[in-house]
Amino acid sequence: MSALSCDLHTHSNCSDGSDYPGVLVKKAAEAGLQAIALTDHDTVSGLAEAGAEALTLGIECVPGIEFGVLSSRGNMHILGYFIEPSAPLFSATLQRVQAARAERTPKLIKRLSELGISITIDDLESITRGGQVGRPHFARLLVEKGFAKDFGQAFSKYLARGAKAYVPKSILSPGEAIQAIHSAHGLAVLAHPFSLRCTSRRELETVVQELCQQGLDGMECWYSEHSPSFTGQCLDITRKFNIVATGGSDYHGAAKPYIKLGSGKGNLVVPYECVEALRARHEEKYGA
Ligand code: AMP
Ligand code: FE
Ligand code: FE
Ligand code: ZN
Repeated sequence: MSALSCDLHTHSNCSDGSDYPGVLVKKAAEAGLQAIALTDHDTVSGLAEAGAEALTLGIECVPGIEFGVLSSRGNMHILGYFIEPSAPLFSATLQRVQAARAERTPKLIKRLSELGISITIDDLESITRGGQVGRPHFARLLVEKGFAKDFGQAFSKYLARGAKAYVPKSILSPGEAIQAIHSAHGLAVLAHPFSLRCTSRRELETVVQELCQQGLDGMECWYSEHSPSFTGQCLDITRKFNIVATGGSDYHGAAKPYIKLGSGKGNLVVPYECVEALRARHEEKYGA
């Protein structure tokens, strides 16, 4: 096993994590990681701060993003790596998804108020401090105001798909997300495949095959919620379709205290070879 490790899936307070981007990078260096990717939901606003801190500390920081996309099976998220966010199609896509997120917030507030729960824009802004508003911010307020005993219950009672206050948000198809990432000279990677809730390996293979036909570059095999056997299945699938195997904790700081940077729920190890494999694919695709 490689002694070098990385964490290619993390969130800062620019989306629904709790750490400033620079603090997150500092914690990654302290944890002994060789590389980190900042992959905030629907925003690149933390990348400059993370990149600058990484340069100071001598740790690699891969510029990333995470898009939620439309899917008929469970939650599908697509990660983008090595993105150059100024690309026109990419920035137009970012504006579209940010607008859809912004439109959801008042709808969710209204849905909750119909249920007798008062959550205001001011409440949200006091915790997001200008970052993208996400359901976890609502979950935190629901717990603080005593409407749910914990995060999980806030989601299952109010915020999850099918729950009382659920408001859909995704507007991108998987193909549109992949295309936007490619337009920014990035690599598109299927995040946490367990969340697709496929009932068999064959079903997962079918989804991955369809995404590969649309240009998918990789799949997140090592992940906090994956069992060793599921990780093994995912690795087999990446070999079959010749895509890169990646991994990350999906660290959110204090917003998900049971997930640690670099080590997930305790025994996650993402080999540094993932970064090398991503870099090789990037060079092959776009040149050095
Ligand atoms: P959003 O992008 O605002 O719809 O929020 C999606 C985020 O909510 C995910 O990235 C997770 O961080 C979090 N999330 C989704 N479902 C759950 C759940 N059942 N329990 C806790 N957190 C969740
Ligand atoms: Fe999140
Ligand atoms: Fe995700
Ligand atoms: Zn994530």
